[in-house]
Amino acid sequence: MADKRDYYEVLGVSKSATDDELKKAYRKLAKQYHPDANPGNKEAEAKFKEASEAYTVLSDPDKRRQYDQFGHSAFEGGAGGGFDFTNMDMGDIFGDIFGDLFGGGGRRRSNNGPMKGPNVRAAVRITFEEAVTGVDKELDLNLKEECTTCHGTGAKPGTNPETCTKCGGKGQVVYTQQSLFGMVRNVQPCPDCRGTGKIVKEKCQDCYGSGYVNKRKKIAVSIPAGIDSGQSIRIREKGEPGINGGERGDLLVEVTVSRHPIFQRQDYDIYSTVPISFAQATLGGDIRINTVDGDVIYTVKPGTQTDTKVRLRSKGVPTLRNKQVRGDHYVTLVVQVPMKLTNEQKELLQKFDDAMNGKSVEPEHEKEKEKGKKKFFGK
Ligand SMILES: [Zn+2]
Ligand SMILES: [Zn+2]
Repeated sequence: MADKRDYYEVLGVSKSATDDELKKAYRKLAKQYHPDANPGNKEAEAKFKEASEAYTVLSDPDKRRQYDQFGHSAFEGGAGGGFDFTNMDMGDIFGDIFGDLFGGGGRRRSNNGPMKGPNVRAAVRITFEEAVTGVDKELDLNLKEECTTCHGTGAKPGTNPETCTKCGGKGQVVYTQQSLFGMVRNVQPCPDCRGTGKIVKEKCQDCYGSGYVNKRKKIAVSIPAGIDSGQSIRIREKGEPGINGGERGDLLVEVTVSRHPIFQRQDYDIYSTVPISFAQATLGGDIRINTVDGDVIYTVKPGTQTDTKVRLRSKGVPTLRNKQVRGDHYVTLVVQVPMKLTNEQKELLQKFDDAMNGKSVEPEHEKEKEKGKKKFFGK
């Protein structure tokens, strides 16, 4: 990483470039150096990667801030929690920017070699408590399985699939196209055989030639403690079958956490409100506070005001990384003003109020209290 070029220099933009300017600059470079436009050109490929890396960092506000502050060292792996580019899927950002310009969204497909199957998405709803403790769920899903009649070939038993004539069995076709940035070789999966390189003349009756049948399957999902609404769990190789012996895609299970009547959650902290009586607030005393670990006894200090916040350490949600590390539970104590009083209670409260405004009041507060009293009775 020693002689790495400055990302702004790579894209040929100023340090104050807007998102739009970054995108434009990257588009231009990516078109120029895209591997499909420069088959076999190693230098172009390197330039393409360099530009993509620069764009990935600078188009992300957080990463750009880190880069502006620390330069390349912000992303060098190791102790600093660097950003690893080796696992980055260039196809993803490329697809975002170019859409269908290159047909395959920039994803390169090798000829009819094994290809991973598409991912499948599913959803599961769990309770607030289940998100805190973690839970095992079983999903009932329709999954494509290899047809047992034709063993996935799609051909009627006793017949064999024939080599596709359009692609000669390669599974892909190459279009050469004149475009605004020169000749482009556009590689696409063969439309006739859909990338398999084979054509089924007599279809298998059980799978209608697809080679797959839908089967209802029970899939066990282990949902870790600490999961939050909107997060997904990836279960490897439970998606759609791969093509030409490729591995199955993944199953992505999105979790929705139901609302709780008392607790609210933000990140790993829990928030709740607990009512306390005027007497408890004034005199102090023990109250019960409901937490995800059950009730805890909390001693209210004498003279507690309404809206006082109490922090119960480590009574929040466990972190996904380490179940032992938990957020906190913040409780807001709200002093209740009684709405309905009996005559006796009213008398007692009046006596109490009189006492508060009488001898027991300290001299320096007397004036304030008098003012308040006048206002009250003058109404
Ligand atoms: Zn079949
Ligand atoms: Zn074909």
